[in-house]
Amino acid sequence: MISGQHGRPLACWRGKERHDGTILECLTVIFKTAGCTWNQCLMCGYRHERFTPAESIKGQELHLLSQLTWVQERHRPADYQMVKIFTSGSFFDRSEIPLPVMGKIAAAFRGKLVIAETRPEFVNSETITPFLEKIDDGSWAIPLYCAVGLETSDDRIREKCIRKGFSYNDFTGAARRAHTLGAGVKAYLLLKPLFLTEREAVDDMNSSIRDAVDDADLISMNPCTVQGHTELEWYWRQGAYRPPFLWSVLSVLNEAPVHITCDPVGAGRKRGPHNCGSCDRAIIQGIRDYSLNGDRDLIASLLEIECGCKEEWMYVLDQEMPFCMPLTQ
Ligand code: SF4
Ligand SMILES: [Zn+2]
Repeated sequence: MISGQHGRPLACWRGKERHDGTILECLTVIFKTAGCTWNQCLMCGYRHERFTPAESIKGQELHLLSQLTWVQERHRPADYQMVKIFTSGSFFDRSEIPLPVMGKIAAAFRGKLVIAETRPEFVNSETITPFLEKIDDGSWAIPLYCAVGLETSDDRIREKCIRKGFSYNDFTGAARRAHTLGAGVKAYLLLKPLFLTEREAVDDMNSSIRDAVDDADLISMNPCTVQGHTELEWYWRQGAYRPPFLWSVLSVLNEAPVHITCDPVGAGRKRGPHNCGSCDRAIIQGIRDYSLNGDRDLIASLLEIECGCKEEWMYVLDQEMPFCMPLTQ
């Protein structure tokens, strides 16, 4: 659930996650912050969720701490083992989460397995080491994973279709730094950024997974969703973008050399990954089940479901023409 009220995080919910072959209770928190310093990705709506520019640094700190208190009052530490932390930008950007607040968040989640999302440029020893030391009580071999929205291993697609503002080398550099500091690395990959055909998107995801396994300990695939107030939404409204088919999601999971987690947001809806409407439900449930049980036979059997839209998907894979961008201006 998304909340807009002062003192509450943007969202906070409980769920389950598979880690090292076991199922953990997981708390996910999205803190509202001063916002992403990059602030330019074409598909990102979260970047608009930020404190007003007039809010003082002290006010921002208090606002962050009251969000933490809100979480602590509603979720007992004994009820979950893993915490996934997001912000409206990067958790390890000290202009979003000042060091004293980061210390309090670390203390609140001491003993948990923490996965915190950040851009690669914020993975450094000054920030990661004190946070890691505070959460680590010896319960986990790797108590912290730095989660980076790599999106794709293709620099041209990341630049032209996402406008992400960092390179694959930036990601591998951050992964090296995280590993040296004793943290793990999670990569989020985006299925079907703007301007790609369905076939290009599937091929890009297959190669991105093969590339990312060298540097990322965990990989999660996000089938693209059309968020409000984004450039992607503008193209979608003109009929120039369709979110990926769920068939594409299944085919990628089936091809992947490692277990990929996937919780398709907005699945089955026009703005989210979808098929025809009649076969969506079973496939969405199957994708969520697979994230937890890792049962590859389940994915293979879902790909065998008979539905007229599978032919449509195969036709689209075969016939859709690439978006023609001018090579020069
Ligand atoms: S996707 Fe991440 S890096 Fe890009 S604008 Fe959104 S919050 Fe910033
Ligand atoms: Zn169908």
